[in-house]
Amino acid sequence: MKTGNYLSKGYGTKVTPQSEKIPGSNQVPNSAGGFAFGIDDWKRLDRFLVIGSEGGSYYTSERELTKGNAEAVARCIEADGIRVINRIVEISEAGRAPKNDPALFALAMCAGIGDEKTRKSALEALPKVARIGTHLFHFVSYVEQFRGWGRGLRNAIGEWYNEKSDEDLAFQVVKYQQRDGWSNRDLLRLSHPVPLNDEHKKIFKWVVDGECPKGVYKLIQGFEKAKVAKTEKALLTLIEKYGLTMEMIPTQFANSPAVFEALLPNLGLTAVIRNLGNMSKSGYLAKGKWDGVNAVCSRIMDEKNIKKSRVHPITILNALVTYKAGHGLLGKGEWEVVPEVTDALDKAFYLGFPNVEPTGKRIVLALDVSGSMCSNKTSGFQNLTARLASAAMAMVTYKTEKSVAMIAFCDKIVPLDISRCTTLEGVVGKMSNLDFGRTDCAQPMIWATEKRVEADAFIVYTDNEIWFGKIHPTQALKQYRKDFGIPAKLIVAGMTATEFSIADPADSGMLDVVGFDSSAPQIMSQFITE
Ligand code: CA
Repeated sequence: MKTGNYLSKGYGTKVTPQSEKIPGSNQVPNSAGGFAFGIDDWKRLDRFLVIGSEGGSYYTSERELTKGNAEAVARCIEADGIRVINRIVEISEAGRAPKNDPALFALAMCAGIGDEKTRKSALEALPKVARIGTHLFHFVSYVEQFRGWGRGLRNAIGEWYNEKSDEDLAFQVVKYQQRDGWSNRDLLRLSHPVPLNDEHKKIFKWVVDGECPKGVYKLIQGFEKAKVAKTEKALLTLIEKYGLTMEMIPTQFANSPAVFEALLPNLGLTAVIRNLGNMSKSGYLAKGKWDGVNAVCSRIMDEKNIKKSRVHPITILNALVTYKAGHGLLGKGEWEVVPEVTDALDKAFYLGFPNVEPTGKRIVLALDVSGSMCSNKTSGFQNLTARLASAAMAMVTYKTEKSVAMIAFCDKIVPLDISRCTTLEGVVGKMSNLDFGRTDCAQPMIWATEKRVEADAFIVYTDNEIWFGKIHPTQALKQYRKDFGIPAKLIVAGMTATEFSIADPADSGMLDVVGFDSSAPQIMSQFITE
């Protein structure tokens, strides 16, 4: 046994407890009382755009987390506003984030606090990021926090309406009438655009004055007729003839199986998965009711629909969990879960990711299941813990690759009973039954060392709030590389929008990705192959 005097114990660069800084490194204190690496503002921008700050984290309130992120975004805007806008557009257009709100917020910041060129470009990018009426209302409520209603903003809003085709304009103003205290009427009055053509003029008139001019776009006519429909039969005819959607149905008819049946072809994927509970309560979606079950399932699994609607896999997972729970968040009513529907959602989840090339490398997928991961909510989805969402995200890599070990850890390795064939429903059940404890992100490397598991890459899903272990994860990785003679890589999939990471930015064999980015499995696969 090696011995030494007091100077040979406790202080060096190879083994440092996670509660202390690695000597000579640029580690910073994290929120859990340990030390981690700071990520730069551009990486933080990415985390914010994909994860947002809704619900805060286990350690930080929503307000504090939002403030920290907004300050990082502001620094990025000051450094290079155009680069920020490009990033916002890239992530938003590709549907890489579960929610579009952080992108709209960051764009509002660019339009408010950027230099002249940035402000102008931000407003030009508005239609790319605010693609539907709800987005526009959110943007407007955010932008008021950063600037006044100058001509530039008024023109941009007017342009948003005017650049739409007649059909899309009619659809937008009927489907999304108001939100956040703003309505289309308010926005058209403020921006006062010169209508692009006669059809636009009529639609604007309907929005502003409530009058239905002769020959106004047919969807608006259909909507007006639906408002006064006397019977369900009359309404069904209108739904089919005018392509009406959920929002256009008078409340007294909203919960009928026949109405759902008629509406289904007109609904986007978001509306379908949001209304699974309502369709179940109405009796349209129930075991053995094959017309409903088959129609709904084929809408959910329609790959084109998934891509077009940009529904994020995490949103689909949330729909699955909510549907499976058999009741809405408000707890009103219950329904019998139809297995075909959960199967369809399972399939849709995987279809929501861009195609991932298998690397053929040896991979350890490691899930942080510590206490904080159970309490962190995912992008504000009340039913989704970071622990569950990270397991689902990891399944994509697990199913794609051949030589993968999936493990779970907190301050020790936690037994995990998941295989490639485990359904998402199974993953939900298995993750909620796991033990949890303190956090030691060195566990995956320690496990692989002890079990003599060869790995080309470790992928750790965590909130980076380490504090407990006897050795930092980066040090454990360096020991592993030396011990096995493998230049193993470490990928950290961050599950909260904090400024911390266990990955050393100075080590090119380590990478930070945003855990909920639908492109994450693809980015990880490329990094492992490099
Ligand atoms: Ca933790």
